[in-house]
Amino acid sequence: MNIRLLFNRVVPPACLLCGARSTRSLCPGCLADLPWHRQPQCPQCALPTPDGQLCGACLQHPPAFDRTQAALTYAFPLDQMIPRLKYHGQLAIAPVLGECLAQALEHAPRPDRLIAMPLHAARIRERGFNHATEIARSVARQLGLPLDLDSCRRTRDTPPQMGLKYDARRRNVRGAFSCSGEVQEQRIALIDDVMTTGTSLDELAATLKLAGALEVSCWVVARTLAPGH
Ligand SMILES: [Zn+2]
Ligand SMILES: [Zn+2]
Repeated sequence: MNIRLLFNRVVPPACLLCGARSTRSLCPGCLADLPWHRQPQCPQCALPTPDGQLCGACLQHPPAFDRTQAALTYAFPLDQMIPRLKYHGQLAIAPVLGECLAQALEHAPRPDRLIAMPLHAARIRERGFNHATEIARSVARQLGLPLDLDSCRRTRDTPPQMGLKYDARRRNVRGAFSCSGEVQEQRIALIDDVMTTGTSLDELAATLKLAGALEVSCWVVARTLAPGH
């Protein structure tokens, strides 16, 4: 008997959220109950808008990325799962989030390559992994897309963006990334866990475009809603 079969006999496979017996990481009930991000939304940043038109923020300050696809709305249980992955090292959560993203993007136009939001080397040393890379591995495997782990680096460790106004956020991340010429003429999908202000994704997309990338999409597991939604 191989180790996995033995393990399954001792600990029957269970849903990560409700503990019910399940051959997949989430049981069908929990999967269906997730807050799928399907409401009419801004095509560029995925913020809900009444008729799916561009939002005020994208009209005022057009981001460098061309569009955003978010699988889920940042609400329960994502507000528990994502911190458990990021700060408590529960790596088993990454493939589950990757599956959600792959499922939501089943019919999305295919990019030439995936790039995970890079984490600064100091943060990787501290946590032992980059959560965005772990999610991206799962998406790459399921959609059969190449994952590029070498072309982009985070060269500056930036303080958290929360609570900063637009101009301060932009200054905060300016020059935070470097990208190699490998991305020239490429259509890229950037993978990240959560899009809140989108400033880091915007800066990375701008850096990619300066390096010659043709098109940049954001593929995020969860979209934070603006207050009032
Ligand atoms: Zn369940
Ligand atoms: Zn927008």
